[in-house]
Amino acid sequence: MDLTTFRAQLDDWLDQHTRELAPGYAGTGTLDERIAHLAHVKRLGYAAGWMRWGWPERVGGLGGSPILRAYLGEALMTREVVEPDAYSMTEVLAPTMITFAPPSLAAEMVPPLLRGDELWCQGFSEPETGSNLASLACRAVSTDTGWRVTGQKVWTSYAQFAARCVLLTRTGSAESAHRGITALFVDMDTPGITVRPLRTMHGSDEFSEVFFDDVPVPFARTLGEVDQGWAVAMDLLPYERSTSLWHRCAYLQRRLARLLVTAPAGSLNALEVGEAAQLLLAFRARSRLTQYRMAAGEPLGPETSIDKVLLATAEQAVMDLAATGLSSDVVAGDDPASERWRTEFLYSRAATIYGGTAEIQRNIIARRLLDLGEDR
Ligand SMILES: Cc1cc2nc3c(=O)[nH]c(=O)nc-3n(C[C@H](O)[C@H](O)[C@H](O)COP(=O)(O)OP(=O)(O)OC[C@H]3O[C@@H](n4cnc5c(N)ncnc54)[C@H](O)[C@@H]3O)c2cc1C
Repeated sequence: MDLTTFRAQLDDWLDQHTRELAPGYAGTGTLDERIAHLAHVKRLGYAAGWMRWGWPERVGGLGGSPILRAYLGEALMTREVVEPDAYSMTEVLAPTMITFAPPSLAAEMVPPLLRGDELWCQGFSEPETGSNLASLACRAVSTDTGWRVTGQKVWTSYAQFAARCVLLTRTGSAESAHRGITALFVDMDTPGITVRPLRTMHGSDEFSEVFFDDVPVPFARTLGEVDQGWAVAMDLLPYERSTSLWHRCAYLQRRLARLLVTAPAGSLNALEVGEAAQLLLAFRARSRLTQYRMAAGEPLGPETSIDKVLLATAEQAVMDLAATGLSSDVVAGDDPASERWRTEFLYSRAATIYGGTAEIQRNIIARRLLDLGEDR
């Protein structure tokens, strides 16, 4: 289906199902409510075909350009049907899983994800390993019956809701760095996995510590080649830094528009409003190019660090503006709308951390795109 037809038919469907798709809670709701609502929306969207467009037929999709997925996400955010966070995890994890998993595994696992029966999580970061991902220590040992995994991950978003994890493990020596990493696709209900949710500063148990204690993982769950997990990580991180953020931009545009009608007259500085609006527009223009590069099958690569810097800068500009224009509500209001602005303002601080910090993105831009010095 082409984009114009897709948009017209999707918009019609969304108009006809407004009530069934609307969240049943005020403000942002609780995390449990948001996750349950997301599953509900995905189920409806899958049954009607929308969640399947833009995904390959070999994994249960209906084919067509990935651009269709970008428009679906944008429409759901713009209409306040779902929030971008857990929704975007599919765009972060599924493209790489499909590329590196054995074909039968991808064919089995992707449909439940698109249908809303499952969430997946990303097990990369560890207590001593964030920016320097190549130093990760969570170990997978090869045995006669499969891998045995022992170690810890941290900041694993939605781990307590996740059915599967794209997990990076150490299979080479401690010194092997990026050459001794293997990626696994792990069932989160396997004995030996313990998930302990962590509370964020905005009051949500959104990410977790995840402990692995001699966890069995079949060899058939290896993503890519043994000791070649760095290639999996380098394929996945560009999605996290670019295409998955398209929906977030749509949501931020919606929130900026809301702010402009909510903030008391004279409380916003016109130059700052213009700055936030043009930052969002800059991300959108840049991200559109990236979406079309993905649709053309190009590797996304280090260029996506530019997308990530633009989006994080725009998100903080919008939420700084909200904090100024609605300052008493954001600081002290206890109604759902104030609670929502406060939560969003606090969460926006994470925009320069998740998916690789702003400093790391700038290092990549300087060294790999502008040739300004070597990676250390
Ligand atoms: C909301 C949120 C959700 C997340 N979800 C997940 C998830 O689902 N899965 C997952 O695996 N991880 C997740 N993370 C973790 C995230 O990827 C890491 O926090 C991030 O990569 C930074 O790593 P770190 O926290 O260990 O900080 P560190 O790497 O310890 O960095 C600390 C500070 O030092 C700076 N720094 C480090 N190295 C350099 C350098 N070479 N040059 C310049 N400055 C440097 C950093 O920019 C930062 O300011 C999430 C994080 C957040 C905030």
